[in-house]
Amino acid sequence: MQEALLGKTVAELQAIAAELGLPRFAGKQLAEWLYVRRATSFDEMTNISLKGRELLRARYAIGRHMPVAEAVSKDGTKKYLFQVGEQYIESVYIPDEERATLCVSTQAGCKMGCRFCMTGTLGFHGHLSAAEILNQILYFDDLTNLVYMGEGEPMDNVENVLRSLEVMTADWGCAWSPRRITVSSVGIPALQQFLERSECHLAISLHNPFGVERAQIMPAERLMHLSDVVRLLRRYDWNHQRRVSFEYICWHGQNDTIRHANELLRLLKGLPCRINLIRFHAAPSSQSPFASSDEAQMEWLRDYLSEHGITTTIRRSRGEDILAACGMLVNALQNEATV
Ligand code: SF4
Repeated sequence: MQEALLGKTVAELQAIAAELGLPRFAGKQLAEWLYVRRATSFDEMTNISLKGRELLRARYAIGRHMPVAEAVSKDGTKKYLFQVGEQYIESVYIPDEERATLCVSTQAGCKMGCRFCMTGTLGFHGHLSAAEILNQILYFDDLTNLVYMGEGEPMDNVENVLRSLEVMTADWGCAWSPRRITVSSVGIPALQQFLERSECHLAISLHNPFGVERAQIMPAERLMHLSDVVRLLRRYDWNHQRRVSFEYICWHGQNDTIRHANELLRLLKGLPCRINLIRFHAAPSSQSPFASSDEAQMEWLRDYLSEHGITTTIRRSRGEDILAACGMLVNALQNEATV
């Protein structure tokens, strides 16, 4: 398979241009065609000579691919499947008044094995390249925000994730503000790379403030303890434009009690952050041992944490009728294929 140009930095594109005997400025032109004009073929690159385009075509691919399936929810949320080698990965498009957010996958499947997550139960099938991450994003031309919260643990593929973020935020790339991008993590040691080399927002999947209880539902707790994740976060500045938030799926009796609320307050004391409470929706037909907290308990938890100094919100669920939680559409498609 030919190497993709998508995901290359402007310096790398200049080196490719030089190697093929093209003028040095062709590197900048390539970056503009890939990231600003979003060309999907070499034929569109009309300010590069015909011979130059031939040389490029002989050695490289653009790296753009259309989705192979699409599902639309009643609330406007759309889910897209992209083929990556033998695998499918998914992206979720969430329109909301003035905003349009895309939830991006960074791996096919996931190694982290969170017990409540469909993707976690499907296992790991490979890292996505920067081109495969960017391909999901560049398909859309009206996005206002990006969240790296689809399939996979972004920090487990940190170099490709950072490269995609560089393309999205560099002046020679898509020139987005890093404040429009949030990357999620369960918290593993490579998180430090992200904190040092990116300005994008961070969302930590917390789900239980007690390490021993968290390890029972999130095996990644053993790779890096939550207390060490929070200690690491305290070394960075969250008082200005960059934000850290904590995702917290609420399960009846398991993590929504006063004991958990007080431990959350203790753990996060003094850290400028917010907590997003999330309703749990088990995958259809799954024998999930998890049951969502009821509305009243979630409202109590929100108010208790907010009154004690941590801004806490209950996140609205979107796209439930199209299986918008990670891994569900891929699973449905694979089940269909095996019937
Ligand atoms: Fe992986 Fe995220 Fe699912 Fe955990 S919740 S298994 S990190 S995709």
